[in-house]
Amino acid sequence: MEKGAIGHVIAIASGKGGVGKSSVTALIASELRRRNFSVGVLDADVTGPSQPKMFGVRGPLVDRGEGIEPATTSNGVTMVSSQFMVEDEQTPVIWRGPLVTRLIMQFFGGVNWGKLDYVLVDMPPGTSDVPLTVFQSLPLDGIVFVFTPQDLSALIVKKAMNMARDLHVQLLGVVENMSYFTCPHCGKRSDLFGVSHVAEVAKEYGIPLLARLPIDPKLSPAADAGQVGAYTSPELSALTDALLRAIQDAESSQLTVL
Ligand code: ADP
Repeated sequence: MEKGAIGHVIAIASGKGGVGKSSVTALIASELRRRNFSVGVLDADVTGPSQPKMFGVRGPLVDRGEGIEPATTSNGVTMVSSQFMVEDEQTPVIWRGPLVTRLIMQFFGGVNWGKLDYVLVDMPPGTSDVPLTVFQSLPLDGIVFVFTPQDLSALIVKKAMNMARDLHVQLLGVVENMSYFTCPHCGKRSDLFGVSHVAEVAKEYGIPLLARLPIDPKLSPAADAGQVGAYTSPELSALTDALLRAIQDAESSQLTVL
């Protein structure tokens, strides 16, 4: 599949659900918008689509015979999601793997994305056939893995990372989410889920540790209110800096190989 007028296609993945993959996708998209990049989000997490709710956008998507028009969030992120295809937030898309895969392909190739600097793909979690086909079929420039300290101990994220690596998708880096909590009263920092191993994993795979994001009680209410685009933090800004650097480094090393 061709990238068309899209500068970079970056997947955000995880070993399992609930680690903050979708939140990290939405936060990076919004931070890139604040930096005046044009950004699209392809919500490929078909069983748990959460991008529309976090950004407060609704469907349906329209196709006037010239391709699907993506929705646009209030901060100017263009978006497609399976959520736009069902009547309400509680209705699931009950499709088998091959159909889901076709939908995701359609969401990439059949959408009028226009000219964009970045498309971020909120991946389905895990190593099932859907993420497998996405890895194989979308023209990904790289992938970022999100996990939490306790997720890591189960080694689940490494399975997903190994799958991406085996399929020759460029691993851009890892993000440890819900890494620690800083008490708003006394300022003491606690590793709620135990000791972090993220640096070891980054080293093992020879990729950058892009960020350790804290548990922030302000994030969930912002996302629940459809205001994720307004959330900022120094850690998010540093994550975005690190990601942009990793993308640039990956590109220059590919040029060297050529
Ligand atoms: P996933 O996409 O991996 O399933 P989500 O992004 O949907 O995970 O996050 C799961 C829940 O955890 C959401 O309610 C989200 O608001 C919350 N969450 C994610 N990251 C953080 C964080 N750093 N601090 C506080 N809450 C978070």
